[in-house]
Amino acid sequence: MRIKPVTFGKSEVVANPLGLGTNAVGGHNLFHALDDHAGKQLVDAAIANGINLLDTAYVYGLGHSEELIGEVIQHHHRPDLVIATKGAHDFSSGEEVINNDPAFLTAQVEASLRRLQTDYLDIYYIHFPDHDTPKAEAVGALQRLKEQGKIRAIGVSNFSLAQIKAANADGYVDVVEDEFSLLHQDHLTDGLLDYLHDHQISFVPYFPLASGLLTGKYDHLVEFPADDIRSQIADFKEPRFSQILAAVEQVRPIAAAHNATVTQVILAWYLQNPLISAVIPGAKRAQQVEANAQAMNVALSNAEYQTITAVFKGFQATRAGKSLKDPD
Ligand code: NAP
Repeated sequence: MRIKPVTFGKSEVVANPLGLGTNAVGGHNLFHALDDHAGKQLVDAAIANGINLLDTAYVYGLGHSEELIGEVIQHHHRPDLVIATKGAHDFSSGEEVINNDPAFLTAQVEASLRRLQTDYLDIYYIHFPDHDTPKAEAVGALQRLKEQGKIRAIGVSNFSLAQIKAANADGYVDVVEDEFSLLHQDHLTDGLLDYLHDHQISFVPYFPLASGLLTGKYDHLVEFPADDIRSQIADFKEPRFSQILAAVEQVRPIAAAHNATVTQVILAWYLQNPLISAVIPGAKRAQQVEANAQAMNVALSNAEYQTITAVFKGFQATRAGKSLKDPD
């Protein structure tokens, strides 16, 4: 493996920078016809292939993703793994409400610990910001859990820059997870990444493969069922879909030069991007995970890195359709 481990923020959490996104492990509310056995297999495949950062959340299957991961990690050495999970979704009223109340977050951490069958979480993210809770109070609750040894690093996800600043008022935030990919680079210009860099906060982008579009496997538009999250994503609609495919074609010669796949080269671009701490591609099958792990062995030249950056530069300002940050 060519890539060095990464330390998250000011914490002592260290992981390999290519992790596994697990919204398709037990995330039956996000994807159509998922198979639990395949989900557990791909988590096992990740660990067997040098991936030790597992990114999950309560809302992926309303606890089911955490439960499946909890089963798998019983067969592995816990200290070798970095488990990141998230909470903020409150269904106690019968409807989905985002809740950052300190008591609610504390209860959510305890529930995640039970589902994951572990006595500590390496990273705990507030998954989405609510409207009412002062962000420093929400993070203060996580800081108390950190002092009790129940979590080791504090994260926030889907927070605006102003909300991140408020959350980090006492300097407690170690990591931010937010949408960022070659197709969605808004944070290059909105000051968010500058703030994180200046305050020693790690950045983990989500949707690094643009939900599969950046793998190079699409050659025609696909209709997803309404209960598949991709049916809501603007990248899968024309004319943007064809523009993305044309850009991906330009990555193929670089992949060929490395005897690698387009996916591996795209993931290598994230791994070599100094603004990014860790990249967490998701997967549906173990074979995808095994292939993606090999991206840690692909070293792009500076010229290749710059070529890929330039190819996707035009996508920076484009953002259309339903934002997946809208929790409802
Ligand atoms: P992604 O990483 O951009 O795309 C993953 C999808 O691409 C896979 O499910 C698979 O789908 C396809 N794929 C992966 N490897 C492949 C390969 N080698 N060859 C061909 N296809 C491949 O999107 P994501 O999984 O939705 O997001 C990544 C992670 O970010 C999630 O798992 C989750 O942990 C996290 N996330 C966090 C938030 C948040 O609010 N914090 C939001 C979204 C996601 P198909 O096989 O179906 O094509």
